[in-house]
Amino acid sequence: MASSEWELVCGLEVHVHLKTRTKMFCRCALEYGAAENTHTCPICLAHPGALPVPNGRAIEMTILLGLALDCEIADRAVFARKNYFYPDLPKGYQISQYEAPLCGPGRFKLPDGYEVGIVRAHLEEDAAKTVHAGGATGRSVGADYSLVDFNRGGTPLLEIVGAPDLRTPEQAVWFLRHLRQRIVDLGISDAEMEKGTLRADVNVSVRRRGEEGFRPRWEIKNMNSFTFIGRAIAAAFEEQKKAHEAGEEVVQSTYDYEPDTDRLTVHRSKEEADDYRYFPEPDLVPVEPPAELVERLKHELPESHVERIVRIAGELPPDTALALAEELVMTGNDWKAVALNKEGVEFMPAAAIAMNRGDFLLENAPALAKIVEANVTREALDEAFAAAASGPIDAADYLAQAAVADESELRPIIDAVIAANPEQVETYRGGKEGVLGFLVGQVMRESGGKADPRVVNRLLAERLRQE
Ligand SMILES: [Zn+2]
Repeated sequence: MASSEWELVCGLEVHVHLKTRTKMFCRCALEYGAAENTHTCPICLAHPGALPVPNGRAIEMTILLGLALDCEIADRAVFARKNYFYPDLPKGYQISQYEAPLCGPGRFKLPDGYEVGIVRAHLEEDAAKTVHAGGATGRSVGADYSLVDFNRGGTPLLEIVGAPDLRTPEQAVWFLRHLRQRIVDLGISDAEMEKGTLRADVNVSVRRRGEEGFRPRWEIKNMNSFTFIGRAIAAAFEEQKKAHEAGEEVVQSTYDYEPDTDRLTVHRSKEEADDYRYFPEPDLVPVEPPAELVERLKHELPESHVERIVRIAGELPPDTALALAEELVMTGNDWKAVALNKEGVEFMPAAAIAMNRGDFLLENAPALAKIVEANVTREALDEAFAAAASGPIDAADYLAQAAVADESELRPIIDAVIAANPEQVETYRGGKEGVLGFLVGQVMRESGGKADPRVVNRLLAERLRQE
């Protein structure tokens, strides 16, 4: 059977550090980049007799996320002990949620309308950070020794388990980008992969189109780059397809992705859930979120950026709509940057909507777009809109005047540069137009770098053709 009949079955488990002031079960401060082991106490170091006290704000943040993902919010959530033995876990267990998480099934809609199921979202504590030194660089196997920083131990960690609804590597990355944006907009986390405040485990399986049930899946742990996540999924998809077609057994395992070779290597075979011997945490009472709290948090929910994208896209020509609206919203509404990069009339209405200044911009869009297309710097555009916002000046008129003023300032500089570089001018007129770049550079330098190089280019070429 042709390999195109295989379908990717991919789901993400996303871990997010919550942006609380203190840790999940003690009052140690959370401070990224602090000196090692300076934020610890008997609770997060698991001294005998120390008892955990849950962080109320972390619980609220988890519920807020649950509401944003249309999750069922539990009436009664139970913290559970997840037992395993590792140097970064001083208690010998992690406090997590197992059978009764705070947030039950939900869904996340992407801008194109595709819905990704959310299985659950729960609250737990992060482990400490282990640094492996010497020997094989940065890896536990073959290291000479390992160091543990307990500052991170006990950080509130939100785990969002996505359903295996993702069908291409691109869609998986797209989902994660939008989920991240939603998390950032909720104000519950910085969700920065470089800092490790957002990490993802990727589950990859394949099936023949129309096939029911599950084939063994590979879990790729602790991914912290959008690019690598996309590449790891693509690599796992290819390897599994090949294995199935060759009749080889595909074993359920945990894998590491090696970016250098674009290959997956077996990390360890998958522990069964039973291995963790989960049981309800005896030191904590169940969490029963009051209805008033959930109601209040509902009102705290900011508008979804996905809804904004869809609304803006509705105002745009269909062929560019979604991509452009997405770019506008996801780049922090920097509509000017988008307008300047794209140089097209069709972008201006979107820009206007993104800015919430539709009344004033929409009317001026065609005139403004022409000016933007002709020649204008980012600074000039900023200036024009500041002027228009503070008085009865039309931004397009302002820009037209500014452009003329710029040109009249540039002309004497251009004359001076031409006079000072007769050799280059002669070379240019002899047909070697490449030398124009040098002359543009001279004008730019003389103008103190303020001139728009596109304007300089045009004026210089005009001037050189005159004589
Ligand atoms: Zn502590």
